[in-house]
Amino acid sequence: MYRGFLNFIFPEPLHCKLCQQPMRSHGVAGICGRCIERLPLINTSACRVCGKPLYIQSTCSECDNEVLYFYERAIAVGLYEGAIRHYIHRLKYYKDISLAEPLGSLMAIRLKEGKDFYQSEVVIPVPISPKKKEKRGFNQSYLLARVISRILKKPLLSDCLKRVKDTRAQSSLSRQDRLKNLRGAFQVTIPGQLRGKEVLLVDDVYTTGSTVNECARVLMGSGALKVNVIVLATVALDSNLKR
Ligand SMILES: [Zn+2]
Ligand SMILES: [Zn+2]
Repeated sequence: MYRGFLNFIFPEPLHCKLCQQPMRSHGVAGICGRCIERLPLINTSACRVCGKPLYIQSTCSECDNEVLYFYERAIAVGLYEGAIRHYIHRLKYYKDISLAEPLGSLMAIRLKEGKDFYQSEVVIPVPISPKKKEKRGFNQSYLLARVISRILKKPLLSDCLKRVKDTRAQSSLSRQDRLKNLRGAFQVTIPGQLRGKEVLLVDDVYTTGSTVNECARVLMGSGALKVNVIVLATVALDSNLKR
């Protein structure tokens, strides 16, 4: 029945949207069964706060030690490794923007499984700086958020949150320094627009969560009721992979 429901939302295309091969077996979100099997999806229990996979449904050691989270919950479709990492790189650095559709669809499906997330009223992508946007030509989180917004039928507020400051690369910094480094990087452009609203914040990759946490801090500061986060991929606990 679930598959019937999915096929209703995502009619099966003739070709897989990831590998472009003819669809031989049933897939999900326009992605063939073979490609789905190759994706490191998170199907196990996960941390209630950051969404990283855990052996039991609980909070992870990183979240237990975290002083303050401004978002309610984060969930991830899969791990930032293997095929998922490959497709994120193809999207971002090889500018294969056609991948936003199947990847964003996987995120929307993941959201339909979580009650907390269903209540979100507006969808907001994590913004990139104008300089980076000019260089890349697009914001990958906006492309993913646009697909999610369309499937969930929730308005997309793409200009509501702006990145006003480009910061040093985060990967070499400690958790504490990451937060400091991001202070003042984001601004809400129309104060009042978010008052009392439940926000769904969309990003491509979650590492320490500093970026989405800082965005959530700014969104909450401008009156949002709650911020939930969906990302395509998260790094495993204690992993120091670079974005
Ligand atoms: Zn495929
Ligand atoms: Zn956690």
